[in-house]
This record gives sequence, structure tokens and C-alpha cells, in this order.
Amino acid sequence: MTSCPKQIVHLMHEYLDGEIEEATKKELKLHLDTCADCKKHYAELKKTIALVQSASHIEAPAGFTAKVMALLPREGKKIGIERWFR
Ligand SMILES: [Zn+2]
Repeated sequence: MTSCPKQIVHLMHEYLDGEIEEATKKELKLHLDTCADCKKHYAELKKTIALVQSASHIEAPAGFTAKVMALLPREGKKIGIERWFR
């Protein structure tokens, strides 16, 4: 069992949201380099976002946003992912 700082996942969201300070970014990258679990989680997050972004080019089916939101980890709702659905 790895013991990851609780805020690491939060940092991932901040980073993917583009709202992260340089020092914090370094801290996050350092952790991702040494923690396979978090690296995997981060990869999943990025994949989800890529999916969302590619989907925004086409007409999203009704309920798509809600579906993606439901798939996201709970913390994801804080970062305002709706902004990708403009
Ligand atoms: Zn970790």
C-alpha cells in the first residue's frame, strides 16, 4: 500500500485545469515519477479529458455530459469540467 498525499489527486486536477503554481507542479511531477498508482490515475484522468475534448467537436448526445461527470472521480466535479462543453 502506498501512502499518497491526499492533495495529490487534487493537484492533478489543478494541473489539468491549468491552474497550478510552478512549485506545486514540480511536487506533483516528482510524485508521479515515483508513484505508479498516481501515475495510473493521472493517465486515466488525461484519457477522460481527451475523450471529453474530442467529443466536444461533435454533437454530444443528450445526457453525455452527465454521463461523463458520473464517470469522473468525485473531485473532478470541483474543477468545473463543464467548461469543456461549450
Ligand atoms: Zn501516489
